[in-house]
Amino acid sequence: MFKINENYLKLPGSYLFSTIGKKVREFSEANPDKKIIRLGIGDVTLPLAPSVISALHNAVDEMAEKASFKGYAPDLGYEFLRQAIAEHDFKARGVTVAVDEIFVSDGAKSDSGNIQEIFDVSSKIAVCDPVYPVYVDSNVMAGRTGDYIAETGRWTNVIYMPCTKENNFAPELPKETPDLIYLCFPNNPTGSTITKDGLQKWVDYANEAGAVIIYDAAYEAYISEENVPHTIYECEGAKTCAIEIRSYSKNAGFTGTRLGYTVVPKELKCGDVSLNSLWARRHGTKFNGAPYIIQAAGAAIYTEAGRRETKEQIAYYMNNAKIIREGLKAAGYTVSGGVNAPYIWMETPNGMTSWEFFDYLLEKANVVGTPGSGFGPSGEGYFRLTSFGTYESTLEAVERIKKLK
Ligand code: PLP
Repeated sequence: MFKINENYLKLPGSYLFSTIGKKVREFSEANPDKKIIRLGIGDVTLPLAPSVISALHNAVDEMAEKASFKGYAPDLGYEFLRQAIAEHDFKARGVTVAVDEIFVSDGAKSDSGNIQEIFDVSSKIAVCDPVYPVYVDSNVMAGRTGDYIAETGRWTNVIYMPCTKENNFAPELPKETPDLIYLCFPNNPTGSTITKDGLQKWVDYANEAGAVIIYDAAYEAYISEENVPHTIYECEGAKTCAIEIRSYSKNAGFTGTRLGYTVVPKELKCGDVSLNSLWARRHGTKFNGAPYIIQAAGAAIYTEAGRRETKEQIAYYMNNAKIIREGLKAAGYTVSGGVNAPYIWMETPNGMTSWEFFDYLLEKANVVGTPGSGFGPSGEGYFRLTSFGTYESTLEAVERIKKLK
């Protein structure tokens, strides 16, 4: 008789965004005349940049000709894209990453969920609290996290690193030594970042403790402050302790197009075994490769026009972030984030829980946000607003929220 992976049954019932979707659907069915503004989801709204669209068209035409048709993509990704990544994302920042340390993927969700497979099941994980839920959930599925305690919202075998107002939403080094440390900067959902000196402490700690940092830099393109590192490899010694995950979703609108990459340095070793070789083996066996058409589109982001156009998109979202941050601050709300990230993190007013405020905001302002508690226990009492809406809807949402004061 077959058995299922019972770890899946441990995951709490419904995913955060399906609960939100259900509540919003019910509200709009009951109030068909109300115009709902969505500042909740993390999806982008601007269309793909013209240079990306043009590269897509060209790549489709190539697929139509016998001479330029492409079949299976190389395991690690096309060299033209990995060269562009090494050049623009790393060399331009004074960092050396070799092309065979770059693994092109279909996005950061897959890689941040799958990377745990190359580590032993006994590995103890540490996560920022709150954070993007995929890190914990994928380790739950793998059987690493112990049991879920509903009262505390915590797993018994996970080291939580609270990101609170007191530590400026950047975690302190854990007291108990983890094997795997998931860091996400700029952070989803708090929009906080870490300074280069701050990140160096983590790198030194990981090298000393024999831990691996899994660094999710999906929001790197939103960094506006000088002292914030764009890649963990700006820190001395990071190549012996850190894997970095990147995405084209938020910097170039590829949420539906799907493309990302992960850097696994060759120097990162467990004894004699390089993690680069393990991930290469895994990629070769379990990943079909991102389509040629999509990789060609990804390379277009690095052209002069592509860089200019995608920068304009980021500027558009960051202007929305400023409108939310400054508008709500002026109205007396306590907010942070939105300077190096598309996310604004607000304290729920009048001691409301995150979900109470969600219902209140939907009911009174017809604005949808995301309850902070959905990202971890320390997110309780907070709320995430995103800057991915239109300029006009962002302005209107802020006006509505101001009026609630
Ligand atoms: N990492 C973080 C921190 C995210 O917030 C998200 C999406 O919201 C992802 C990864 C997913 O990225 P992708 O679309 O490349 O799978």
